[in-house]
Amino acid sequence: MSIQITLPDGSVQQIEPGSSALDVARNISPRLADAAIVAKVNGVLVDVNRPIEADATVQILTSKDPQALEVYRHSTAHLCAAAVLELFPETKLGIGPPIENGFYYDFDRPEAFTPQDLEKIEAKMWELQAKGLTFERKLIAKTEGLEKYRAMNEPMKVELIEERADDIFSEYTLGPHFIDFCRGPHIPDTSKIKAFKILSVAGAYWKGNEKNKQLQRIYATAWFSKKELDEYLNKLEEAKKRDHRKLGQELDLFSIQELAGPGLIFFHPKGGIIRKTLEDWMRNAYLERGYSLVYTPHVMRRDLWKVSGHANFYSENMFTPMELDDSEYQLKPMNCPGHILIYADRQHSYRDLPIRLGELGTVYRYERSGTMHGLLRVRGFTQDDAHIFCTPEQIEDEIVACLDFAQDTLKTFGFTSYKAEISTWDQGASGKYDGEPAMWELAEGSLRKACDRLGIEATVIPDEAAFYGPKIDVKLVDAIGRLWQLSTVQFDFTLPRRFELEYVAEDGKKHRPLMVHRALFGSVERFFGILVEHYAGAFPTWLAPVQATVLPITDRQNDYAKEVVAKLKAAGVRVTLDDRSEKVNLKIREAQMQKVPYMLVIGGREAEAGQVAVRHRKRADLGPVEVDTFIATITAEIAARTADE
Ligand SMILES: [Zn+2]
Ligand SMILES: [Zn+2]
Repeated sequence: MSIQITLPDGSVQQIEPGSSALDVARNISPRLADAAIVAKVNGVLVDVNRPIEADATVQILTSKDPQALEVYRHSTAHLCAAAVLELFPETKLGIGPPIENGFYYDFDRPEAFTPQDLEKIEAKMWELQAKGLTFERKLIAKTEGLEKYRAMNEPMKVELIEERADDIFSEYTLGPHFIDFCRGPHIPDTSKIKAFKILSVAGAYWKGNEKNKQLQRIYATAWFSKKELDEYLNKLEEAKKRDHRKLGQELDLFSIQELAGPGLIFFHPKGGIIRKTLEDWMRNAYLERGYSLVYTPHVMRRDLWKVSGHANFYSENMFTPMELDDSEYQLKPMNCPGHILIYADRQHSYRDLPIRLGELGTVYRYERSGTMHGLLRVRGFTQDDAHIFCTPEQIEDEIVACLDFAQDTLKTFGFTSYKAEISTWDQGASGKYDGEPAMWELAEGSLRKACDRLGIEATVIPDEAAFYGPKIDVKLVDAIGRLWQLSTVQFDFTLPRRFELEYVAEDGKKHRPLMVHRALFGSVERFFGILVEHYAGAFPTWLAPVQATVLPITDRQNDYAKEVVAKLKAAGVRVTLDDRSEKVNLKIREAQMQKVPYMLVIGGREAEAGQVAVRHRKRADLGPVEVDTFIATITAEIAARTADE
């Protein structure tokens, strides 16, 4: 009696019961069998050699499939743990899941892993890999399993089995020493493993809880081919050079002060002027696009946060309240309630709408200590935050205008490519979403139509909306291909109801306005960090803290150099003078290190002719020109906000 296997293309195979997906692949072609990493049987991921006992649908996954890559990475994590046990048998095992670009494995070992240990582990992994060890799946009863792992003295595994295992659970072995309570699936054997690298080791608490024991987490990257691995390692190298924390220090842009606390940013003079340039651009764009600028307090009564609901559903992210003589106050984690109070302070007619209130509003959110990261994850940051209150008839045009504004922001700051994602609800199936179905329909429809009107191809992600409304996210792609979340346009059906917002419509009756939150930089601090990394610190001239530096070759040219500096300053150029009695080559090298766009070298000849010898940080020597000619060039470049050089 054979069983019937249905393949993704609809074709059918008859096989003996107990045959595997690998047998199915062999029937199709030896090449497919060779490429098989893992299979999906009736939609469930399983080992390719798992016996199939009844009629089923079967899909063979190869290296082209992202799910196969995850299985491959998890299998490489097992190889890593097996290597660690061979070298350091006293080690206890935590967990080893796949992650983006690779995997980690948590180990409990009295001594810290040294860089030499990591090298040894990697070498041992290759040694085991070469043996073509199989990933063998076994089933064991829970009671028996618990006894076994207790006897093996693997307390963390025992804990996991107690919490998670079914009455009969699966374990996977690899080589003579490694056995793991693991759901699988895995690749068939280690010969499939072709490219990996151990990257680092860091402390990590068991189950992510700081009350638990601290373990050593080994991070590694793993890929199907050496080529992909090399590309990834190059990208890591490139990202390291661009790290905004490193460049922020080298270029003296910003700092985080231990005495003041983590996650709080100090902008130094050079970072400050860049930030001012960003903010000026944004505030002017607000006014040009029909927004009003408002300012709201940083600390407000806790009662406000009770009405808004934040004191309830957002309290984990808020700084704890402070007790004053008249009541409790709380630092703002969001600007919206402030803008809502301004809206609600007056009666509005439909003729006043849309009302767009914008603010560069600094907010404070509680992040756990140890989770902060440079400018990207902080406790205090400034949102370019605006809230739009409008009628249902106006909403589509408003969304179009928001997205147009977002595109303009990306273009202005030198980003040419981005991705858009619309997060929608579940049609009310779960009951977790707030607001009427008609509102959701209108809002989601307006997001889709706005994208159509602007020719934006947005991916729709179902059931990913916030409980209070759908949104569209814009993610930019930076100079080395990394994706960064940037702009968000987010509907809110909840806050207008909580604050009982209204306007008098054409019918003379009171209606509730639609409300949209939107931030385009997201956070100014984070956007600043993204810019540093995108440009690797070499900001385009219009953003550069020092746009030109004047470098006299000898002291005899100092007077003329000062004249040049004065002329440039008068033209609005940010210019410095390096009149130290140092060799001009050293001055050039230092200006180059500081990524100053233009170096103006002045020798006797230039001084006499009223010229400067222009050197550009990327295009090198551009030759001598009249001072006025240079001023015309650089001021035009600044005015045009030219991003590429
Ligand atoms: Zn596992
Ligand atoms: Zn808001």
